[in-house]
Amino acid sequence: MSGGFLSQVNDAFDTAARFTRHDPTLLEQIKSCNAVYYVSFPIRRDNGTIEVIHAWRAEHSQHKLPTKGGIRYAPDVSDDEVQALAALMTYKCAIVDVPFGGAKGGVKIDRRQYSEGELERITRRYTFELVRKRFIGPGIDVPAPDYGTSAKEMAWIADTYATIQNGELDALACVTAKPLAQGGIRGRTEATGRGVYYGLRETCDNAEEMQRLGLAPGLEGKRVIVQGLGNVGTYAAKFLADAGALVVAIAEYNGAIHDPRGIDVDAAVAYKKEKGTLLGFPGATDIARGIDALELPCDILVPAALEHQITGENAPRIQAKIIAEAANGPTTPEADVVFAQKGTLILPDVWLNAGGVIVSYFEWVKNLSHVRFGRMQKRHEEESLRRLLGAIEGATTKRFSASEVQTITEGATEEDLVYSGLEESMVVSYHQLREVRNRHGVDKLSLRTAAMVSAIDKVAQSYLDMGIFP
Ligand code: NAD
Repeated sequence: MSGGFLSQVNDAFDTAARFTRHDPTLLEQIKSCNAVYYVSFPIRRDNGTIEVIHAWRAEHSQHKLPTKGGIRYAPDVSDDEVQALAALMTYKCAIVDVPFGGAKGGVKIDRRQYSEGELERITRRYTFELVRKRFIGPGIDVPAPDYGTSAKEMAWIADTYATIQNGELDALACVTAKPLAQGGIRGRTEATGRGVYYGLRETCDNAEEMQRLGLAPGLEGKRVIVQGLGNVGTYAAKFLADAGALVVAIAEYNGAIHDPRGIDVDAAVAYKKEKGTLLGFPGATDIARGIDALELPCDILVPAALEHQITGENAPRIQAKIIAEAANGPTTPEADVVFAQKGTLILPDVWLNAGGVIVSYFEWVKNLSHVRFGRMQKRHEEESLRRLLGAIEGATTKRFSASEVQTITEGATEEDLVYSGLEESMVVSYHQLREVRNRHGVDKLSLRTAAMVSAIDKVAQSYLDMGIFP
């Protein structure tokens, strides 16, 4: 692959910028990373030895505050990678109208090599370093999970921040995807996978789009391959299977399984948890090299592991008609070229995996307002609807059964409202991207470039509104 991840993101930016008419200085400001913090610190391992940990936080664009983006724990984290991922966050937030700038953090460790106690020490020290340099805070920069981190690390971050910033009323809004009891929000854990599902459902329901690909409309019966059975991959697979799609293969770093009749996702997750591998899953065929599974027959390929999994080398052999980029940067520019020639539709990461940041935004709003969504209006809505049903019964011969009354009058819970907001954001942004692409011509603009054009236009508008640029 030519260039690093950051130059790949910047090339995508430059391609899209050619479809806009913004001043070159403004474009340079949008593309540049505003701030990068690199830190190294020692931690004591359980065996008494000392190890130096290397970590980063990049704030790509402070045109809106706070900046927002996950923290990744991976052995190959680098300055280039966090800057690339932070830039993607800026564009992602703009595309789905979440009022944040983009950021990303990374700690250069393979988490499998560390005990829970060691991970806690690393996470708390990293948080301390972020506080020290003002790279975290409810109005400054708000992290979330990414590859190799989860709600547990977010809980340590929130606790460390709140301890240092003793008495800060909005302290819990310093990080999102926290456990519920620590100010988390219902629906955040599955949000990215759920957003991937909404995005795919909306795409597959579009008859015109499906006709171009030679596919029947709807998710029902579509064959899906998922790479990476982690947070995003698991939930995407589950929701797609619930909607009638067939998950025919699942790939992990240590092998894949294939069953053209469809794999029971819950059973595969339980199996992997128990055995540490998918290999040997009852009823499925083992594939020793996980990456080979991406080339099996299917309609939709969902890369949900890491970047650069689909390259110029394997793209020609990939049979999927739709590449649903659940992971960040899974498709290299060389692979993009191959897919453009083959007429494969790529649903770009900057849009498709935005579910996490959308629901993180809801969590941040909840933390700042200090009240659970739905708490104030649920009972009031239910009572109003009950009175309405009573009025209908009074004016007609209709009599509602107890179960009808229950279904019709049920007020929205926090989870209902989160899902509703997520679905609305994914559906509206999908139609915006299609509109931008179709305006320029389906053959001229990929959905990835359309997404970047949309992002550039929106960020540019913020700067223009500030009156700084011509
Ligand atoms: P995760 O750590 O929960 O899961 C990643 C999974 O991929 C793990 O099961 C891991 O074993 C597997 N994996 C690693 N290398 C692999 C390989 N070579 N082949 C197959 N499987 C492999 O991480 P996640 O949070 O699910 O993130 C996955 C991707 O989605 C990342 O690119 C991340 O940046 C992106 N993403 C995550 C979120 C989120 O909310 N978690 C939001 C947006 C984007």
